[in-house]
Amino acid sequence: MNIFDVFSEEVDGYYYHTYDSVQELMSIYDESKYVQKSEIGYSNEGRNIYLVKLSDFSVPSENKKKILLVGGTHAREIMSVEVPLYFIEYFICHSGDEDLMQLLKEYEIWVVPMLNPDGHVRVENGEIFWRKNVKDTNGDGVIWQDQDTEQGDGVDLNRNFGYQWGIDDVGSSPDSMDSCYRGVAAFSEPETQAIQSITSRESGNEFLLVLSYHSYGNFILYPWSYTIDLIDNFFLYNSLSMTFDNILTGSYFKGSISLMHLQNGVLVDYSASNYDGKSPSISFTFELNNEAEGGFSPSVEYIPQTAEEHFGVLMYLLNDGSDKILQNLGTQASATDKNLMIS
Ligand SMILES: [Zn+2]
Repeated sequence: MNIFDVFSEEVDGYYYHTYDSVQELMSIYDESKYVQKSEIGYSNEGRNIYLVKLSDFSVPSENKKKILLVGGTHAREIMSVEVPLYFIEYFICHSGDEDLMQLLKEYEIWVVPMLNPDGHVRVENGEIFWRKNVKDTNGDGVIWQDQDTEQGDGVDLNRNFGYQWGIDDVGSSPDSMDSCYRGVAAFSEPETQAIQSITSRESGNEFLLVLSYHSYGNFILYPWSYTIDLIDNFFLYNSLSMTFDNILTGSYFKGSISLMHLQNGVLVDYSASNYDGKSPSISFTFELNNEAEGGFSPSVEYIPQTAEEHFGVLMYLLNDGSDKILQNLGTQASATDKNLMIS
């Protein structure tokens, strides 16, 4: 099978990474004072799901704020792999920048750049609209997808997370051939289990922020997805999304995912929830690029532009944004305390 053209282009050193080139990157990143790498699981077809941690590991972990960035959940959304990879490269290439490295004394940035490697390989090999993971979900012995109707095998990983999984069939399907098939159970897939393994209560990790990258449409989205009810921290989400919009060029739709389409089993709903007693995180989905920029596969020139803009959002969060979040969460907690005292 031929490799999809866009993976053969290179402009100013930028190119779309194949799964093989991500593997190669992981093999050349040296573990250092600032970088740790690991595999947090294996896909259905046995490929590695990588995690890169960026932090100043000479500072004890318990004093740091954790941020989780996830890309490449939906296979065809190939820019969503490049943005988190750019962040990793940026930190590694700027380890002499004292201000930047100072931030890594305060933060641990955990990056999962390609959550769905099997689907990504399908896209690389020309099945350019592959969205779900790769699994024979109807059990007929072939793994197949119709490029026009999007009907075909696989589980939609962004409908397989546990919180409110399968509460209804709106935007989440029980049909094994549907493009939004949610799987047979919450966290039935090794790819979503990989995320659960680092975010569950048992993992002991508490993330202040979770950012989930998708494409396309220029959207800044936040929970909830499963209900039109407003999330508790709605005003904080609303204010942060307006700041992000100012940082990003172009016009963005901002709002809860449910305003666009109700759906359930979504990563940001899970990460914002207290599912199984885990601690909730402030959680955003970014839908990168728009139709005019090339939809699911913008030309390579868009990689640095898109990644730099979103690096700006990350920098805002590492500098002022997280203080704002902590202050807001603190205010809410004290309001609750006050209510408790009154009652
Ligand atoms: Zn997506």
